[in-house]
Amino acid sequence: MIRIGSGCDIHRLVSGRLLILGGIVIPSEKGCLGHSDADALIHSIIDALLGAAALGDIGTFFPDTDSRYKGISSSELLKETMQLVKKAGYRIVNIDSNIILQSPKLAQYKKPMAEKIAETLGIDVGCVCIKAKTAEKMLGELGTSDAVFAQASVLIESV
Ligand code: MG
Repeated sequence: MIRIGSGCDIHRLVSGRLLILGGIVIPSEKGCLGHSDADALIHSIIDALLGAAALGDIGTFFPDTDSRYKGISSSELLKETMQLVKKAGYRIVNIDSNIILQSPKLAQYKKPMAEKIAETLGIDVGCVCIKAKTAEKMLGELGTSDAVFAQASVLIESV
């Protein structure tokens, strides 16, 4: 059986935080604010995976009220999510995703992000696509580089 899942996430960007997207640090004046490392891309992929397996959402498994997850690398949460998906009897077919970030430009980081995500999930890098665009300086905080938005779609199949 093949199943589809989708996820999205948004985080505020502030000074004094690292910008971590797709599990890698991206040089930037501002970074994502959040309880964990606030990796919006990985959070959207986690939600898409959990959704595809009808397991719930990121808050079900990794609540931001839990001190265990304070400052945690979202790649660790993604690894745990993969275990849940495996336990439910599925493997990943592919992941497609979008990031909306006004600045910095992400063109040179798309491949490293895909490689890191593929490695974290134990899947082929050819199964992971990351696309990035700006907000054309529109949409409030997104257009002024005060927020980042990410979206992911995944396909899983029964093992
Ligand atoms: Mg998040």
